[in-house]
Amino acid sequence: MRFFGSTFRAQFLSRPNRFLVRCRWKGETISVFLPNPGRLQELLLPGRVVYLTEEKSAGERKTRYTAVAVEREGHPVMLHTHRTNGVARHLLENSAIPGLEGAEILKSEVGMGRSRFDFLLRQDTETILLEVKSCTLFGKETAMFPDAVTERGARHLAELAALSRKGMRTAVVFIVHWPFSRIFMPDYHTDLNFSLTLVRTRTRVQVIPVSVGWNQDLTLSQKVRLLHIPWDYIKREARDRGSYILVLKLRNRRNIPVGCLGTLSFPPGFYIYVGSAMANLESRMERHRHLRKRHHWHIDELRAAAEFHSLQAVRSSDRLECEIARALSRIADWEVSAFGASDCSCKTHLFGMAGDPIFRPDFHSLLQHFRMDRFAETPK
Ligand SMILES: [Zn+2]
Repeated sequence: MRFFGSTFRAQFLSRPNRFLVRCRWKGETISVFLPNPGRLQELLLPGRVVYLTEEKSAGERKTRYTAVAVEREGHPVMLHTHRTNGVARHLLENSAIPGLEGAEILKSEVGMGRSRFDFLLRQDTETILLEVKSCTLFGKETAMFPDAVTERGARHLAELAALSRKGMRTAVVFIVHWPFSRIFMPDYHTDLNFSLTLVRTRTRVQVIPVSVGWNQDLTLSQKVRLLHIPWDYIKREARDRGSYILVLKLRNRRNIPVGCLGTLSFPPGFYIYVGSAMANLESRMERHRHLRKRHHWHIDELRAAAEFHSLQAVRSSDRLECEIARALSRIADWEVSAFGASDCSCKTHLFGMAGDPIFRPDFHSLLQHFRMDRFAETPK
């Protein structure tokens, strides 16, 4: 099935804002519209191949190019979120969504209460209100949604659950644009509220995650797979506890007194610190976002001298911080000895990188390992 006109391949360079990317094509730098508000940090890495279309009549738009997909391991991942409902319609019309076989589309863009839902369906004598979400975040076998906090997503689920209490059948379909995914989980690392809402409403709102694949010519492959949701594992792990990875940026070399370690000289670069809180992880992370007068830990001294860059949660019932520190030591450019590691046998919990870790594939692989792929190795 074809959803796009002819596409051509370019090289991703940067993303100046949410809906604009810059690409290298035929030796020139071009500006390209990106119809996807997601974070996409693990996909849009410098040098990656992106698939573009050209629209001759782009009207008011600043650019006539649109990014429709990005390549990962030789396979295109569809990014054009405006086409998600077209894909869902095609799957519905071909009875390709398990549980919704034979459903007829009565209406799309259905206003209901404060929200608008994607489809109203009829299957036998029942009507079904359906919401569709596009998912492009995945590790080796596991896909997760969302890749950024979505209050709208959580509100949609709560409203579908409320309509279900009034007797309406409701469902949410997650279309995962990666044919190798087998497992689906809400991304409780990034959006705990959405994840808990999905868990809480699942007896009212049917959750149907499916994976699809895109061919090199950006046609949709025929194969659709229903993904497994490990609800018991999610209920155990989706809690406000675990580890976090804090990234700070130091513009110039600084000498910083660090408690018992004395005054250390920090070269400029990015500093990656791993810590944990097996209760109240959210408030611990919040603590690092702001400057504080009183310093309790080594990291508070560096935090006061550096700029806040980013903070990533790795929620887990296991204390993973030392394991994460060991993994970071394998990809870091340098490390700061004995920093933040007085309670464990690690060499350190602070690592340095010359460039931004957000642009490094090995940093994303590390995050995905601990956030998703670890599931496959954990006893259920
Ligand atoms: Zn440790």
